[in-house]
Amino acid sequence: MTKTQSTARTSHWKRSLLALLLLAALVMSGCTAQAEKTTASATYFNTAVMFTLYDAPSGLVDELMKECERYEKLLSRTIEGSDVSRINGANGETVTVDPETWEILRRAKEISAMTGGAFSVTIAAETTQWDFTGGTKRMPTDEERLAAIELVDDNQLVLGENNTVTLPKGMMIDLGGIAKGYIADRLAEMVRGKVSGAILNFGGNVYLIGHKPDGTPFRTGVANPKNSATHLVVITLTDQSVVTSGTYERYFTRDGVTYHHILDPETGLPAETNLAGATIILESSMDADAIATACIVFGLEQSLSFLNEHDIDGVLIDGDNNVYVTKNLADRYPVALAAPAE
Ligand code: ADP
Ligand code: MG
Repeated sequence: MTKTQSTARTSHWKRSLLALLLLAALVMSGCTAQAEKTTASATYFNTAVMFTLYDAPSGLVDELMKECERYEKLLSRTIEGSDVSRINGANGETVTVDPETWEILRRAKEISAMTGGAFSVTIAAETTQWDFTGGTKRMPTDEERLAAIELVDDNQLVLGENNTVTLPKGMMIDLGGIAKGYIADRLAEMVRGKVSGAILNFGGNVYLIGHKPDGTPFRTGVANPKNSATHLVVITLTDQSVVTSGTYERYFTRDGVTYHHILDPETGLPAETNLAGATIILESSMDADAIATACIVFGLEQSLSFLNEHDIDGVLIDGDNNVYVTKNLADRYPVALAAPAE
C-alpha cells in the first residue's frame, strides 16, 4: 500500500515535472521562434533604401516609406516646390520653411563650423556644376569653378526666427551630405520600441535598432572600397547609426582621371584625399553623415585627430585598403578585421 502510494506519488511528481518541462519548452520555443520579418525596398534620394524589421506592427513599414516620400518632396534639390528648391530660387529673399528643414540647416551650420567648412551645406553652386549620377560626366571650366567658390560660405546662410532662411543672391544649398542622416534618425524614432530589431539602410547610412531574432546584437560591415560587396571590418553594435562616405560611391572617369562626388568647398574640385572611405558611428545619423563627408575632405591624418579630439568613433580606410580606427572604438564595440579582401 505504502509502496503503491509511493508509486502514485512518484508518478504524480513525474507528471508535474513533465508538465513543467513542457511549459519550459514552450516558453523557450516562444523565445527562439522565428521572429516575424518584414522587408521593403525602394529608391529615394537617389539611393536604394532598404528596411528590415523584426516583429513590426502591421503597417509600420508602409509608414516608413511614406515618410521617405514626404522627405524627398521637402528636401530634394531637384523637385520643384521643395523647401530646398524654394531656398535656392529665392534670389536673396527670405523664405519660410518647414521646421524640419530649418533644424537640418541649423545643425549643418554647426557641423560646418566644427569642421572648418570641410562640410559646407551651401556647396550647391559647386556641386551643380558636376554630374556624378546622370552619366553626362559634366564638369566645370576653371572659370565657372572659380566663380562658384565665391558662392560657398555657410557663414552667410542666415537662419532667422520662425523658420526663416535667407541666402545671398546666387548662393544655394545642397543637403546631399546630411539629409539621409536626418531622415534615418526620424525613421529610427518611428521604429524604436515597436520592433524587436530593425535595420534601416539608406545606402551608406545604416541605423541599427534592437537585436537580431536570436537576441544577439547586430554585426555591421565596413565596406571594402575596392569591392563594396565585401567588408574589411565587422563591428558588433546596436542602437547606433553607422554612416560611410566613400570616394568609390559615385564618380566618373574622364580622359583617364577619376572624379568623385565629395568636393573640397575651397576648390570646387573632388577632394584630394588619401582616404577611400570614412565610416562614422554615432547615435545621431545626421551628425555621422555630415562628419563622414567632412572626413573625406580632411584626409586620414586630420580625420583621426578631429575624431579623437571630439571622441567620435570611426573607421578610416586609405587608398591601399589600410584600416585605421579611432582610439576608443575597440573599447566600446567588438571590432574584427574581416578576411583580407582583394
Ligand atoms: P552619399 O550621400 O553619396 O552617400 P555623402 O554623405 O558623403 O555621400 O554626401 C555626398 C553628397 O553631399 C554629394 O553628392 C553632394 O550632394 C554633397 N557634398 C559633396 N561635397 C560636400 C561637402 N564638402 N560638404 C557638404 N556636402 C557635400
Ligand atoms: Mg554624408
